[in-house]
Amino acid sequence: MAQAMEKTIEQKLQALLKLQGIDSELDNIKRLRGDLPNEVQDLEDEIAGYQTRIQRFEEQIKELEHAISDYKNKKKESERLIEKYKNQQMNVKNNREFDALSKEIESEELEIVLCDKKTKEAKEKIESKKVEIDNVKKILADRNKYLQEKQKELAQLVEESEEEEKKLLADREKQKAQIDERLLISYEKIRKNSSNGLAVVLVKRDACGGCFNIVPPQRQVDIREKKKLIVCEHCGRILAGVEEVAVQVDEKATRKKGIRKVTEEA
Ligand SMILES: [Zn+2]
Repeated sequence: MAQAMEKTIEQKLQALLKLQGIDSELDNIKRLRGDLPNEVQDLEDEIAGYQTRIQRFEEQIKELEHAISDYKNKKKESERLIEKYKNQQMNVKNNREFDALSKEIESEELEIVLCDKKTKEAKEKIESKKVEIDNVKKILADRNKYLQEKQKELAQLVEESEEEEKKLLADREKQKAQIDERLLISYEKIRKNSSNGLAVVLVKRDACGGCFNIVPPQRQVDIREKKKLIVCEHCGRILAGVEEVAVQVDEKATRKKGIRKVTEEA
């Protein structure tokens, strides 16, 4: 730059405003990405929860099937024993032995009834688990579809903004070089302490564009003159001008549905 040595206050303010515009756009990119990655993460967690639930149901079904096969074996064994006892009864020496075997047979018959009952119960449980799995699978398919949409949205957003972000960061470096270090440090400090990332604002409708407190008319005259750096006495933000003076800078920032809109509407 030709007039590199000492810039006028007006030039300094103009350079700061431009930097602020770039930073606000960068903030906006981060803000736009801010929600979506969390949303995608929440959805992924939710889906993992459904998958775990399905897995648990499937494990329970396997356990029940295992139990059914145990009951089946137990029943077979009882049938075999009954057969054996009945054969033994043919060769008993007395009534006492016969009665003892009858008791054994009775007990095995009870065992068979019990196995049948438990098998029936287990089969019913399996059926209800399968219904539950189907229900969860329906929800899962729905959430998966939604996740895919969100992932696509996020990928697009990142892709789109990545390039823009790169360009803005390069612009920022160039713009930073236009501003002397001490002023830049103040700017960064104010920006860091500001909830909306604004360090340099305009006076809008008689109010500070950062904190919306009234700026007295005499102070507005001084701000318009741009003979010295004036900060808002309420929030400490740099007041770079009165609204109509630097409209074109502001328009550029608002075009990107940015943070600046908030101050614009207030
Ligand atoms: Zn203020």
